[in-house]
Amino acid sequence: MDEKKPLFAEVLLPLPVKGTFTYRVPVDFREEAEVGKRAVVPFGRNKIYSGIIYRLHQNEPQKYKAKDVRNILDEKPVITSEQTRLWEWISEYYMAFMGETMNAALPSAMKLASESKVKLHPAYDGVVSDLSMPEHKILENLGDNVALSIKEISKITGYRNVMPVIKNLIEKECVIMQEELQNTFKPKKEPFLRLAREYVDSEQELQNLLDNFSNKAYRQMEVLMMFLSKTGNDRSALVARKRIIAGDSKYNAAIRALVGKGILIEEKKTISRIDNFKAAEEVGNITLTVDQVKALTQIHEGFANDKVSLLHGVTSSGKTEIYIHLIEEQLQKNKQVLYLLPEIALTAQIINRLTYYFGNEVVVYHSRFNEQERTETWNLVLNKQRRVIVGARSALFLPFRDLGLVIVDEEHDNSFKQYEPAPRYQGRDVAVYLGRMFHASVILGSATPSVESYANAEAGKYHLAELHKRYGDIQMPEIQVADLVKASKQKQMYSHYSYMLLKNIKETLDKGLQVILFQNRRGFSLRLQCQQCGWMPECPNCDVGMIYHKYQNNLRCHYCGHKAKVPEECPECGSTAVKMQGFGTEKIEEELPNHFPDVKIARMDLDSTRSKNAYYRLISDFEARKLDILVGTQMVTKGLDFDHVGLVGVMNMDNLLGFPDFRAFEKAFQLLAQVSGRAGRKGEQGKVIVQTRQPYHSVIRYAMNNDYHAMFKSQLQERKIFKYPPYYRLVRITLKHKDQDTVYKASQVLAGALRARLGKRILGPEFPAIARIRRLYLRNILVKIANNDDKKNIKKFILDEIRTLSKENDYKSVKVAVDVDPV
Ligand code: ADP
Ligand code: ZN
Ligand code: ZN
Repeated sequence: MDEKKPLFAEVLLPLPVKGTFTYRVPVDFREEAEVGKRAVVPFGRNKIYSGIIYRLHQNEPQKYKAKDVRNILDEKPVITSEQTRLWEWISEYYMAFMGETMNAALPSAMKLASESKVKLHPAYDGVVSDLSMPEHKILENLGDNVALSIKEISKITGYRNVMPVIKNLIEKECVIMQEELQNTFKPKKEPFLRLAREYVDSEQELQNLLDNFSNKAYRQMEVLMMFLSKTGNDRSALVARKRIIAGDSKYNAAIRALVGKGILIEEKKTISRIDNFKAAEEVGNITLTVDQVKALTQIHEGFANDKVSLLHGVTSSGKTEIYIHLIEEQLQKNKQVLYLLPEIALTAQIINRLTYYFGNEVVVYHSRFNEQERTETWNLVLNKQRRVIVGARSALFLPFRDLGLVIVDEEHDNSFKQYEPAPRYQGRDVAVYLGRMFHASVILGSATPSVESYANAEAGKYHLAELHKRYGDIQMPEIQVADLVKASKQKQMYSHYSYMLLKNIKETLDKGLQVILFQNRRGFSLRLQCQQCGWMPECPNCDVGMIYHKYQNNLRCHYCGHKAKVPEECPECGSTAVKMQGFGTEKIEEELPNHFPDVKIARMDLDSTRSKNAYYRLISDFEARKLDILVGTQMVTKGLDFDHVGLVGVMNMDNLLGFPDFRAFEKAFQLLAQVSGRAGRKGEQGKVIVQTRQPYHSVIRYAMNNDYHAMFKSQLQERKIFKYPPYYRLVRITLKHKDQDTVYKASQVLAGALRARLGKRILGPEFPAIARIRRLYLRNILVKIANNDDKKNIKKFILDEIRTLSKENDYKSVKVAVDVDPV
C-alpha cells in the first residue's frame, strides 16, 4: 500500500442493487479499515448505512468523487472470507443481488441504517453504569415506548456520528432495534433470589431464623420454604424468582419483605437465552447396532471418497444416533458441526438429546429467536466458543471458522427452500456447497429422500447408506385404507369420520394408547358458503377464498393475512343460510367429543401454537399423556417422537394427492411415511388409517408396502418424460403488477425475448392457480434448462432480459421475482 495515496473501500450495502460502492477511507480510519468490518457510509441524498467492507484498494474512481467513510463500527472483522464467498455463490446461482443475500445473512441488529428505528430495551431499568455522555443523552431522549430512527436521534442530539454510539447501546442491552419487537421479544434479564451469606454459611443460623418466624408472617415463611426446596443441597444457589412463586402475585409482598430484611438477596441475572432449554434428560449410552455400524461405515466410505453421503433410513432406525456419533468424531478433531433441520422439527426433544451428549457445545439458531439472541450466537460461532450449531436454514449464514461436518436432516423437506424474499435459496443445496468450501464432510438424511438426492445417489454422485429396519426390531406400522366412497354407500360415514377410523380410535384408547389425527394444512378448506346462491367469501386482495377460523370467529386470508367479519347474511342474495363447508383441524377437533365424550383432545397447528410456549406445552402435555388425542397439521409429523401413540389417522389423503404440482406424489408419499412414523415407536406395532376416495392410488400402495424405491422409480420415469428435475433445472420467473393488463403485456414481452434465444425451454407465460396475491396480479414464465445446457450463461441472459424489460417505461413498475429450483 502506498502511504501517500488515498485508500478506498468497496462497501457492500444491504440493498437490491448490483455490486459494491466505492468510498474514500479518511486518514483517521486508515488503520482501522479492514475487510469484513462494518463501515458507516452515506448513501443517496441523506441516508446512512452500515455496510461491509468488501475490498480495500487505491484506485480512485475516475467518473465521480467518492464520498468518505464516516466511521468503522467493529474492532475485529465480523464477516469471514468464507461467508462472502458463500454469499457470492448464492447470489450468482439463485440470481439475486449480493445486497439481498447480505440482508438474508445478517441479523438485523448488525444492519444499522439511518432509517432503522431503535427503542429502549424492555429490560432496561436505567441502572447501567459506565455509560458515556453521548450514550446518556440518547437514552434520555428515548422515553418509554418511543421509537426514534437513527437519523432522528442524530438530529435531536446533534451528534453527527451517532451509529457507533447506537451500536454500543445495543451491545449494552440498553436499546433494541424496532423490528425486533415484531418478533415476540422476551427480555433476557430476570430476577433471581439467593439466600444471605450468613444463612448459607451456618445451618444453625438458618434454623434459628426459621424457628423464630412470627406466625403473622406465614406468607414469608412459605416463600422461604419454597425457595429452600428449590436450592437443594446448595444453599448458595441462585433461584429464578418465577421458579419460586410460579408467577403467583400473592407472594410479591412477602418476597419484598424478605429482601427488605436482608434474608433473601435479589439479583437480576442475565439468563443466557441460548442455553434456555429444559435440562437434558437421561438418554442412556448408546452402542450402535450391527446395521447402524454398517450404515456408519458406508457414510465414512462416502466421506473418504469426497462425496456427500445420503443416509436413507426408515423412521426410528437410529439416524439421529448416527449423527451423534459423527458429531462426536468431529469434536475430537476440534472441528465445528452444523446440524440443519426444518424449522418446525427443531423441537426441545432433539435439542435435549444433543445437549445431553454435547452440553454447552450446542447452540441453536432459528427464526423463533430474536435478533439479539441471533447476534449473540453469531459471536459465539465466530469465536469458536460453540462447536455444535443446530439450526434452520438461516444457520447456514453463521461465521463458521473450522467446519468439519454438515448434517442436513429431513433433507427432503420443502421448508429448506427460502421462498420470499430473494435470495430464494435451497438450504440443502447451499449446505452442500458450504461443506465443500470448508472441505467438510456432508451428510443428508431422510426416511424419504427427495427424488433429486436419491437420483444423485443412484448416479454415483452421492454415496448411499441405508437403514431398513427400525431400532429394536419394532415393526413398521400397518397402514390400512378406509375407502370413503364405500363407507358413504354403506352409510358408515359420520361427518368426517369413517366407521373404520372411529372403531380404531376406540380400540386404541381402550388399550390406553394415544391417537394422532392428521389433517393436511391448517384450516383447510374451511369455507363459508351461502346455501341459497353458492356465494363464498373471497379475499379482496388475493384471488383466493377466505378461511373460517372458529376461535377468533372471523375469516382470514392465508396469503396476505387479511381479516374479515363473518357475514350475517349473504351479500349476494341476502340469505342468512351462510354455512360452513369442508373441514379443517378445528372442525375435526370439534366433532370428536360427539364420539368420545370423556377424552382429552388438543389441536396443534399454526393457530394454536402462535407462541413458543404454547407449542412446547402441547408437546409436553401429550408426552406426559395428559392428552389422549392430538389433532394436527404437518406440525405433528416433524421431529416428534412420542412413545405411546398406537394410531395415526390421516383424515383426508385426497387433498394431498390432488395438488397440481409435479412433486405432488413425491410429497404425498413423504408425508404419509412421516405421519406413519409417529405410530408405534416403543412396544407394539402401530397402526395407520388412511381415509381416501382413491384406495388403489399408487402412492398409497407404495406407502402400504413401505416401498420407497418403487415410488422413486415411478417418479423418476415421469420426471424424465415431462422434463422435470433431476433431468431439467427449473427457473420460475414471476411478474407482478396491480394492473392486470400491464402484467399481461410485460410477461408477453419478456417471454418473447427469452424464447427468441431459448426456444422450447420457455413455457408460458400463464396465470398461476392463484392469480392475484396482495392486490398484485401474477404471471409466471417457466424456464426448463437441460443438464447439458450452459446454465451460467442462460441465467445471465435471463437477468439481462429482465433488466431490459425494467428499463422500458411501460414496465418499470412491474416487479419481477426469479426462483431458481422452485419447490
Ligand atoms: P431416527 O432418527 O432414524 O428417527 P432415532 O435415532 O431417533 O431414529 O432412534 C429411534 C429410537 O431408538 C431413539 O429413541 C433412539 O434413542 C433409539 N436407538 C436407536 N439406536 C439405538 C441403539 N443403538 N441403542 C439404543 N437405542 C437406540
Ligand atoms: Zn347467497
Ligand atoms: Zn389475501
